Amino acid sequence: MKLNKIRENIYKISRDDYPEMNVPAFLYASDMMIEDIQNDQSLTQLKNAAMLPGIANGVYAMPDIHYGYGLPIGGVLPVFADKGVITPGGVGFDINCGVRLITFDINKSELKNPESLVKHLYKKIPCGVGEGGNIKLSNKEMKKLLQEGSKWAVNSGYGNESDLYNTESFGCLSEADPSQVSKRAMERGSDQCGTLGSGNHFLEIGSVDKIFDKKTANFWGLEEGKLTLMIHSGSRGLGHQICTDFLKVFERTLEKYKISVPDKQLSCAPVDSDESRKYFSAMACAANFAWANRQILMNLAVSAVADYFKVKAENLNYRLIYDVAHNIVKKEFFDLKSKNCEIYVHRKGATRALPPGHKDLPEHLKKSGQPVIIPGDMGRYSYILSGVKNAPELSFNSACHGAGRVLSRKKAVKTAGDRNIAIELKDKNIYVMSRGKKTLKEEMPDAYKDVANVVDVVHNLKIAEKTARIKPICVIKG
Ligand code: 5GP
Ligand code: MN
Ligand code: MN
Repeated sequence: MKLNKIRENIYKISRDDYPEMNVPAFLYASDMMIEDIQNDQSLTQLKNAAMLPGIANGVYAMPDIHYGYGLPIGGVLPVFADKGVITPGGVGFDINCGVRLITFDINKSELKNPESLVKHLYKKIPCGVGEGGNIKLSNKEMKKLLQEGSKWAVNSGYGNESDLYNTESFGCLSEADPSQVSKRAMERGSDQCGTLGSGNHFLEIGSVDKIFDKKTANFWGLEEGKLTLMIHSGSRGLGHQICTDFLKVFERTLEKYKISVPDKQLSCAPVDSDESRKYFSAMACAANFAWANRQILMNLAVSAVADYFKVKAENLNYRLIYDVAHNIVKKEFFDLKSKNCEIYVHRKGATRALPPGHKDLPEHLKKSGQPVIIPGDMGRYSYILSGVKNAPELSFNSACHGAGRVLSRKKAVKTAGDRNIAIELKDKNIYVMSRGKKTLKEEMPDAYKDVANVVDVVHNLKIAEKTARIKPICVIKG
C-alpha cells in the first residue's frame, strides 16, 4: 500500500494514488510500526472502506490496526446520516465488546496471596466458550434487559446508580428494539449475562504502577500502588448471533441499493433504510446486553475480592472509573461544514475518546475529559488515558482499543511451541488461569504489540493523553 507520511505519526492513503476511494484514509502510527502493519491485509481493508458512499471526511486507523472482518480492527468509519451507509462489518461480531476499570482502596502490599485470589476469582466468574452463568432470564426479562442495559443490572441489585454515570452512554442505547432480535439470539443470551466468554476476554486484578498526569489521576481517584480490576467482555452469543443474522440480510443490500464495494464483508445499506434501521435497533440491544454483562461481572468480581479480604463488598470502597465500548456504531454530532452534523460513527476495535467539555460527558468528567481504557497484555501493562483536544478533528473522538496483535492466534500457538506461559508469568509474579486449552498461547504477551508504543502515538497526536499505567497481578482468561 502506498502510504504518504504527512507528519510525525500521521500517514495518509491518498485519492491521488487510489482514485477509487471516495475519501482519504489516515493511519496513526509510528515509523517502526509500519512494517508490521503492512504485513497483513488491514490497510487494504481500510482502503476498501474508503470506497463506501457518504463518508464524513475520511476513514481512520489507530496504531493497533490489524486484520478483521470487513473494517480492520482499529478502524473508525464515520458516515453522514443523510447519505452514508451502515455496515455490520464496521462493528464486528462481538457487539459492544469493551472494557471497564475499577479501583480499590487497597494497597498492593495488602494482597499477600495472589495465587489464592486468582483461584477464587476463577471459581466465581463463569468463563469459557458458550458457558452460561447463574442468571437465567425469561423472555420478558430479557426484553427489559435489552432495552435498559446497565440500568437493568443496577435495578436488579448489581451495583449503584452512580455506576451509570461512569459508563459510556450511561450503559444504554435508547434505540434498542428487542423485536428485531431473533429467537435464536435471545436463547443464546438468556443464560449468558454475567459471563466472561472465551479467549481474548479477561478479568484482571492489577495495580497502578505509574502516574503520568497527577491532576487527572487524583481527580479520578487513581493512586500509585492501589489495586485495580479490569474487565474485558462483550455481548457473548447474543451479539454474535445478531451479527450473523444481519450479515445474511446485508448480503443482498449491495445489489438492492446499487452500492458497489470491493469486499462482500463490507456489505452495507443506506443509514435511512429498513435494513439499517433494523440492524441498528438490534445492535443497540446487543450493546445494552454487553453493558449489563460487564456491570454484573464487576459485581461478581468485587464480591470475590471481598471474600478474599474477608470484608463486605460495600466496605471495599471500590470505584468504577469508567466503562468503554470498542465495537459499536453510534449516532453522534460533530461540527463539520455545518454545525451539529448527524454522524454515525463505526468504531471497530476503537475506543471513544471525548475531550474535556464535551456535552456528552457527565458533569463530573467535563473537566478531565473521558477516561480511555487501553488494555495491553497479561504480561506487561495496560494504560488509562483521557480524551484531549485533537480527538474530534483527527479521529471523530476515537482512540486505540488495545495493543493489537502482531501474531494471529494460529501463529501465536505455533510460535509458543511447548512453552509453558503460566509458569513464565508466575516467574514474574503474575498469576493466570484460563478455561481454554490453547488460550494462554494464543494470548501470550509476545502475540501483542508493546502497548506503550501504541498509546504513545495517540498521546503524541493529542487524541488522548496518558494518565496512568497498570501492571497485572491476577488474570483469568476465557
Ligand atoms: P480485542 O480482543 O478486543 O480486539 O482486544 C483487546 C485488547 O486487549 C488487545 O488488543 C490486547 O492489547 C489486550 N489484551 C488481551 N489480553 C489481555 C490480558 O490478558 N490483559 C490485558 N491487560 N490486556 C489484554
Ligand atoms: Mn470481544
Ligand atoms: Mn474486545
